[in-house]
Parts: sequence; C-alpha cells; structure tokens
Amino acid sequence: MSSLSLRHIYKVYSGGVRAVSDFNLEIDDKEFIVFVGPSGCGKSTTLRMIAGLEDISSGELYIDDRLVNDVEPKDRDIAMVFQNYALYPHMTVYDNMAFGLRLRHVPPKVIDEKVQEAASILGIQHLLNRRPKALSGGQRQRVALGRAIVREPKVFLLDEPLSNLDAKLRVQMRTEITKIHHRLATTFIYVTHDQTEAMTMGTRIVVMKDGIVQQVDTPTTLYDNPANLFVACFLGSPQMNIFKAKLIEENGNLYALIGETNKVMIPKSRALRILDKSIVGSDVLLGIRPEDVRYEQALIDAHPESVIDATIDVIENLGNETILYLNVEGKEDYTIARVNARYSFSQGESVKMYLATEHAHLFDATTELTLMGVPDYNLIPAQTAAVEDTLAVMFGDVCVKLPVGLLNRITDKSVINNAVTLGIPPTALKAEGEEGDVCIEGSAEFFDNYPRFKAVYMSVPGLANNLIVSRPLDYEFIGGEKLKVYLDPGQIQLFNTDGERIVADRPVSGNTTTGTVTDVNGVYSYKLVGKTGSKNKLSVEGESGLKTAATETPMYILPRGLSIDKDALAKTPKMVLSGVIKNLYEYHKDAIITAEVSGFDEDMTVVIRNFSGYNTGDKIKMAVNPHAIILGNYESFADAVKAPNAQQEGELKYKEYVQARENAKAIESASATSDQVVETAPKKAAPAKKAAPAKKAAPAKKAAPAKKAAPAVKRPTAKKK
Ligand code: ADP
Repeated sequence: MSSLSLRHIYKVYSGGVRAVSDFNLEIDDKEFIVFVGPSGCGKSTTLRMIAGLEDISSGELYIDDRLVNDVEPKDRDIAMVFQNYALYPHMTVYDNMAFGLRLRHVPPKVIDEKVQEAASILGIQHLLNRRPKALSGGQRQRVALGRAIVREPKVFLLDEPLSNLDAKLRVQMRTEITKIHHRLATTFIYVTHDQTEAMTMGTRIVVMKDGIVQQVDTPTTLYDNPANLFVACFLGSPQMNIFKAKLIEENGNLYALIGETNKVMIPKSRALRILDKSIVGSDVLLGIRPEDVRYEQALIDAHPESVIDATIDVIENLGNETILYLNVEGKEDYTIARVNARYSFSQGESVKMYLATEHAHLFDATTELTLMGVPDYNLIPAQTAAVEDTLAVMFGDVCVKLPVGLLNRITDKSVINNAVTLGIPPTALKAEGEEGDVCIEGSAEFFDNYPRFKAVYMSVPGLANNLIVSRPLDYEFIGGEKLKVYLDPGQIQLFNTDGERIVADRPVSGNTTTGTVTDVNGVYSYKLVGKTGSKNKLSVEGESGLKTAATETPMYILPRGLSIDKDALAKTPKMVLSGVIKNLYEYHKDAIITAEVSGFDEDMTVVIRNFSGYNTGDKIKMAVNPHAIILGNYESFADAVKAPNAQQEGELKYKEYVQARENAKAIESASATSDQVVETAPKKAAPAKKAAPAKKAAPAKKAAPAKKAAPAVKRPTAKKK
C-alpha cells in the first residue's frame, strides 16, 4: 500500500534555476504514473526529490500520509532504477541483486527466496551466475530492475530506464515493465521524454513543460481533451496540425475560416463544447490530428462543408499507411495526413481533403489554452429575493430557496435582492431527487461523450443557454425527451456582479474585532484590540472621509477587502495583516481562505483573487483596503436576509419576477400561436408577436393551452421518486 502526495513542490537550484514550480499531485496506490515532457522540463528533478536525492526547496511530500521531506532516501522505502544502471562488474547477477539486502543484514535464506522470485518475474533465472559484461543491454536492464524488485519497495521510481536500449528492445522492455507493474501491484513513477512510452505505459500521465505541470490525466483523456496547445502537440505522432483560423457564425452554424479560401464547418456537437461563446468572431487555433485529415471520397462527398484544398508536397509510404505532407493555403507549415496506404499519390498533385471537425480542437490564439470542455459550473443569470427568512434564487420557472447552512457561507451581502449569477456544477444535477432538492424540468437537446461521462445538454424554459447535465457513459440519450433533474441547493455557487465567487465551503466569520481609529493630519491609525487584547496596528495615509472612533468600538472587515497583490502590499505597507492559512477553497485562480490573524475574534474569511502558491499552514500577508473596515456591529448574511426591510423589498422583487416571467411566457405562447396561424392569418399574427407590454400580453396568455399557464414560479418542494 502506498500513496504519494506532492503539495506545492518547488525546486530552485543554487544559481537560481527554477527547475520545478508548484507541482501538485495525488498518486494512488498501484498507479503507474509517467512524467513526460521535453528535456529540461524538470521530470528527473521531481523524481529525485521523491527519492530524496534532491532537497525540496518548498512544499510538502507525503508517502502514505507521512511527511518525508526530511527523511533520508534509504528510509523512504522506495527503489530507483536509472538510465545508467551501474551494475557491479565483478559480481554475478545473483550477487548484484543480493547486494543491497546483504547490506541490510537480511538472512541469506530470505535473500535467496527474493532473488529467485525476482529472477523468475524477470525471466533471468538462467543468467544468475553470469557477470554483467556477458549480458546484453536488455538483460542488464532487467538485472537493474531485479535489484529494485528484491527490496520490495513501496514505490518504484524509474528514470528513463530504457533510453540506452535499441528501438526493438525498448518496445519489448516497455511491455515487460508494464507486466512487472501488474505482477508487483505497487506504485510506479516513470520518467521519459518519449510520448509513445508515456501513452503506452502510464495509467496517468503528467505532462510537464518548463518546470510546470501542464495537465495530468489518463492517456486517452490527454489525447482527446488536451488542456492546451503544448499538450495537444506533445502527444501524438505525427503531431496535431494547427491551423490559424477565424471562427464565424453563419445561418446558425459555426465555421472556421483558414486563410482566404478554406472554410470548414464545426459541427454542433463540437461547437457545444466551446466554453465561452464570445470567442466567435475571433482568431483561434484549430487543431486537427493527422488521422482526422481524411482522403476517402465518400467522406468528401458527404461533407462538402468540411473539405479543404491541398497540394501534396511529400509522400511517405510506410507500408501500412501513407503520410502526406500537404501545402494548404493559409498555413505556413505542412498539413500532415495519415491515409490508407492503398491510395497512390503523386508529388505536386492537388487534392481535396476532409477535415473530421467532429474531432477538432480549438485553442485561444494568445493563451494557447483550450477553448473547449465542460464548464465547472452552468452559469445562469438569476435574481434573488429575500423571502420567508431566506434568500430565494430565481431563474426560468425555478425558485431555489437557499438552506440556512448555505446562507452562513455567503461572503457578500450585496447579492440580497439583486442580480446574481448562479453556478450549478453539471454533476450536481441528479437523475433522482432527495428531500429538499429542487426539480428542474426541460428537454434533452444534445449529448457529447467525454472519457468518463456523457454531457447532456438540456433546454430549460426561460434559460438562454442549455443546462449541462453530467450522466454516466451508458446513459441512453433520447433527443427531445422531457427531462427532470434534481438539484441539491447546498451544492450551488453564486457569483456577484463582479464575477466573484461568494459561497465559501464552510461558514464564514464576520472578521470582527474591536478597536480605535484616529485621524492625525490625514494619517488614519487603527488599533485592533479584539477579544484577545491584541496590539495589531494598521495605518494609512492619503485617504479621506474614513470614519474614526476615539474609544474602543466594534468593527469588522469585509471578506473582499484584502489583497495579496504585490502592488497593493507595496502601496500601503503599514496597512498589512499577517496571518496563517487554516483552510483553502480554490477555484481557478481565486480562493476563499480562512486565516488566523491576531486581533480578530475568530479566524478571518478572506476572498483572494489571483491566488497561487500558498498552502494551508503558510504565513500570508494581506493588504487591507481601509474602505473595507466597517465600524459598527457585524450583521451576518442570514440576519441581513431576515431584516424586515430586506424581506419587504424581497417580496416586491419576487412578485416582479413572477410577473415578468408570466409576461415573457405569454409572449412566447402568443408568438408560438401566431407562428402556427401565420399561414392563414398573417396580418393578425404579426402584432401579437410584437406585443411586449404586460397589458397586451394578457389576452394572448389565454390563447395558450391551460397547462402552459401553470404558476410561473414554483415554490421549491421536496421531490421524491
Ligand atoms: P528533465 O529530467 O526533464 O530533462 P531536469 O529535472 O533534469 O529535467 O532539469 C530541469 C532543469 O533544472 C533544467 O533546466 C536543468 O538544467 C536544471 N538542473 C538540473 N539539475 C541541476 C543542478 N544540479 N544544478 C542546477 N540546475 C540543474
């Protein structure tokens, strides 16, 4: 049993070479992890830090929940196999394998058992009496593995163990090592620069570049869903074709324009994966793998909308397949195609090629990050209303009343009776409901298969965008089917109008304290005393209009009033609080943290933008915006929601929302009716469609079937199956 945890690991060599930056990885027992990347990207350094052969500059390394940063290599229970497997030339194979155990005073009988067993695993029993010089390269490498196996380590570390072998032997040893991994059923970490080794051996691959992890996932996921251009191009041979393209929309379809002459359609199933639709109209990088540049006439005939013109420049017939190097207008380097070897081609020939754009990848032209995927959250514009002593969040025909537990986790009161963006993780929309869940109804529109789940796109009345629902891969999708999904309100996230995530993962504190604020010639001085009688002092110059309190007064700091930005810290060096991070809740580059800070009654809750590089237990310095210090008694989010004025306003907001939704539905059904009658009575139908004001909409509503006029906003009711 052995798991590893690498947390925020950095390596800076003397001389300032930053070899590894913020390496994070959880490795499960029995995994075969491959570190891959070009030479110099920090793979070996990371492996050597795990082995204990290199100090860790910062961060934590755990083996089986034991912090091993300062544990000697020999006490880490790991074995390492190197590219240069220095065997002792004067010893036999047997003695080479037994050597380490003898040093540890293992009884000879046990040593013999272990050596024989390892030799049988490796198929080298007949070589045990030979000396290394009488062995082939592959046999020597097996002996080196044998030396590691006899030690029965918790973790095997292998650093480019095959790179000294010839191509044929490498392929053979690749499968041998995979078999040994199965047989030993222990954790392997394997370093290579060879993408084929990585793809064929790893259960998960860590792709690295310049000391930074680019993506960690299974070989298939990395190949099919690369997170950025680097990963896309590093894995796969020949590598992915990258076209500079412009995305445009025409007649509801998405196209990529390549150069002046080529235009290919991105099918809907693929277009749905685009995370930010505002990219349409911009330049992007379109990635198509060589096997997706197709020559088959039937495909070209069937999909004229995805065909490009090309000229063949180089033909490589490999026997089983032919690699074509094509010139395509608008692309500087070759477009590479892997086609069936039975076709014959001539150099200089003009051909049409079908781009299988259902497998297309799109990358941001500047950041080179993928533009595709399933978002962490369905982002839904919504309206809140303080009603019935809680906050109701309304979207479409759905009303989610937030449970009290969630109210205690919200960091921003400005969302009460206001517009918010609701974030619902696709995985939070379940097929079956439980007590307290909210039911959302809609109809199935599309689906898209990902390696581990099916993304079902569901249209919901009143929502501009489809709701993405995660379902198991064997889920049977029926287009147009009415769907009911159930949402546990405790799993939602809210974003305020600044786009900040405001629901923490645990109850937030008020950041309360008591103290004094004095203004001496425009220098505001804060003494934060709090319950602990702290002597924390802050001061700031050049601000005006701040409140003062000569005697000790209650005060609190808004969670979003602190920053770790270098400029902010430098600008007001005396307005800085230091604390120790207790909990972290990260999302993209932002985090909500709790930190123990002197002068505050409880651990502070702080929302930090552009958060990186910190871990729990770390010291953190935070610049305080003086305007975020509020004098007076803190009122919790739940109390603010319950306040009579908030509730009154909430009732109004609620009614307004219901009314607006009724109107919108009336218009929808009116236009639906008018569309139906448009052939017989076009003139009458036209005004009904335009009838936006509420008054005019009323009669139209009657025309709609009774079912559709059901209460616009459903109170959340417990749904059970
Ligand atoms: P990889 O294994 O991916 O080829 P390494 O981990 O060996 O890469 O090296 C990562 C970076 O650290 C490289 O820039 C390399 O030059 C540098 N480096 C490696 N070892 C040392 C060292 N002992 N002192 C200084 N720099 C080093």
